[in-house]
This record gives sequence, structure tokens and C-alpha cells, in this order.
Amino acid sequence: MGNLSDMTLQVERVPTLSDNYTYLAYCDQSKAAAVIDAAEADPALVRISELGLNLTSIFSTHHHLDHTAGNPDIAKATGALIYAHADNRGRLPGLTNELREGDTVQIGPHIGRVLEIPAHTMDHIAFYFDDGPLVFCGDTMFAGGCGRLFEGTPELMFEALHKKLGTLPADTRVYCGHEYTEANLGFASEIFPDNLEISERLAAVQETRKGAAADWHDATPAEMTIPTTIEQEQKTNPFLLAPTVEELARVRALKDEW
Ligand code: ZN
Ligand code: FE
Repeated sequence: MGNLSDMTLQVERVPTLSDNYTYLAYCDQSKAAAVIDAAEADPALVRISELGLNLTSIFSTHHHLDHTAGNPDIAKATGALIYAHADNRGRLPGLTNELREGDTVQIGPHIGRVLEIPAHTMDHIAFYFDDGPLVFCGDTMFAGGCGRLFEGTPELMFEALHKKLGTLPADTRVYCGHEYTEANLGFASEIFPDNLEISERLAAVQETRKGAAADWHDATPAEMTIPTTIEQEQKTNPFLLAPTVEELARVRALKDEW
């Protein structure tokens, strides 16, 4: 057994497409790795090789192409298996391992638990790891926001945010699917003009995003606002601040028009 820091799951943030996050989660000791939400193959494959990782798995939070299009090429290059919700049989390219609520996935010695969080899409899942703790939640919870309701209902998004993701330990690091934080907090500060924590967070995020690379592919960690934490979202995310399904639906509709 190594010391605690050795045992922590490492996360590499790979900027893909125009504002997507593809993640490499890996075990520092064994170099066993998984890629999460492979929007594109090449940027992920480059980092896998630079970090000397042994990619064993590809995890997809949901079937949208900006989270899965790179799966076949990465699987072909590495032999990794492709994990996603069971309802994606025949729809998600190359799917090999079908997941449901409570199933576990593995990255070397690190065990992740699958949470079903249908709302943005009905096949949406999150991957939660105790040792971090950290969660990969795709397009369900964003920093300062939530995903659009393409397939689910406000009830389901309330359930996903308040009853599932929102009940994870407060210090859980949240790795979501997109760098949308600045716009999300701009909207949040209009909905909650008197909330000091939101305005302070917006100012901090604007500072982080100032001078960001023109091409998102060139983004460095210094200009990334992800990960956030469950605690930070509880305080400043308008959809977690919404106390009822009706209020969440109202805020979601306002954001759709914003
Ligand atoms: Zn999506
Ligand atoms: Fe997306």
C-alpha cells in the first residue's frame, strides 16, 4: 500500500471540440486509465501516450455524439472496452459493457459506482468514485447550471440534482461535460441579483476565463473552471437553489430563452 496521495485517482482534463471536457481518470501506480466522454479520439490518445497510461475502459455518460464520437477510434487504438447505460444497445457505437444503477466499474484498484440520473437524456449516468471523492456527471449538473431537458422532465432533473448528485459528500469534485461556467453564472446572477456568493463566484470565474485560448483545444488548466464541488454548487447553482420541481422548471425555461 502506498501513501494516501498515491492512492487517489488522478484526473487529466482534455479540452475537446469547442467547449467539451474529455477526462482521463487514472491510477498513478498502475497507470490503468479510463477515458470519460470521448468527444474526439486524437486529443485523448495524445495525452494517453504522453502520460504513459494503459487505457482499459471508455466510459460514456450518455449517447450524445459530443460525448461518444471518439469511442470507436479509441477502442481500436487501445483495445479498451466501452461502458454506457444498457438502454444504448444498438445506438451507442461499439458499446461492449451495459451498465445500470449500482453497477461498478474499475480503474486499476479504484472502484466507481454507477448512478442513473435520467433528465438531459433518459440513458444518462454518472460515475462516482469514493477515493477522491469525485464524480463524472456529463450534461446533468454543470458548474452553475444543468443540462437541457432533451428527453426527461423537470421532475427527473430535480431528482438527479437534489436526490442523487446533491447527496454526494460536500467535498466531491464534480467533473462535468462542458466549460459553460461563465455563462451559467451570468444567468444565475440575474436570477439571484442579491446573492453575494453567486456574484463573487462569477467574478472569480471571469478572472479565470480572461485571456482564454482562442482555440479551446489549446486551453491550459489555468483557464479551466472545472472541477467544481458539490458544496459550491449547493450554494450557487440556481437549479440546486430551486426548492421545488415547479421552481426548477421555471428557472430551466428562463435559461432556455436566455
Ligand atoms: Zn448531451
Ligand atoms: Fe454535451
